[in-house]
Amino acid sequence: MRPAAASLAASYPRRPASRAQAQETVWLFDLDNTLHDCSKGIFKAIDGAMGRAVASTLALEVEAADVLRKSYWQRYGATVIGMVRHHGVDARHFLALSHDFQVAPLVHAETGLGRKLKRLKGRKILLTNAPLFYAREVLKTLGILHHFECVWAIDHMTMQGRMRPKPSLALMRQVLNRLAVPARQVVLVEDTLRNLKSARQIGMRTVHVFHPETPFSSTHRGRSQYVDLRVNSVGQLLAGRRALHKPGNRDHA
Ligand SMILES: [Mg+2]
Repeated sequence: MRPAAASLAASYPRRPASRAQAQETVWLFDLDNTLHDCSKGIFKAIDGAMGRAVASTLALEVEAADVLRKSYWQRYGATVIGMVRHHGVDARHFLALSHDFQVAPLVHAETGLGRKLKRLKGRKILLTNAPLFYAREVLKTLGILHHFECVWAIDHMTMQGRMRPKPSLALMRQVLNRLAVPARQVVLVEDTLRNLKSARQIGMRTVHVFHPETPFSSTHRGRSQYVDLRVNSVGQLLAGRRALHKPGNRDHA
């Protein structure tokens, strides 16, 4: 069994925050259905490529491969984990196969995204369960790569020989450890509720980017307990960010 690559610890050595950084909000942004809208074509492309990757790797019919990959996604938060754990596939090779399509023509996002990110004060880090090459390609296409201090992708989420993507609490703790700032200074901005729940469990603040195409996005028990702010765009986050500092004010959208 060969996991994807290195851990976060190896790729981002812990260093004490500078005096300025110690005061700054750290925005952890998810990628898919948070910074761009996957419902316009990317999810369909990933779905197709992922299905073909599972089918060809395991010599299955497409229908059987579909059932299997969905069960792994639901169980582990990422199909690749099931493929590594149960079939011993090479994670890096599988991730390349499952994202083997032209990204740029399929990327859609709100207008003025770069301008809005620039106005959002604080450090920005991308934290995605997608592969690094895909994440960088999407950010480059959107023209926003330079806004991010670093890109943490599934390639960096291996701990003790196992892939631990979001919503792993071990991962979230390691993220916090790398950042070397108090948890309350860190905000996870994300469309997947179970990831927000983990972030809150270790004391981060949370912004739910509501997207109707995200699985289980509209109904999730106890959401109000761990979502500080609910928006449907980065523009709304920018407008409503001050509510994050006011306890009790949870919904903006
Ligand atoms: Mg997402």
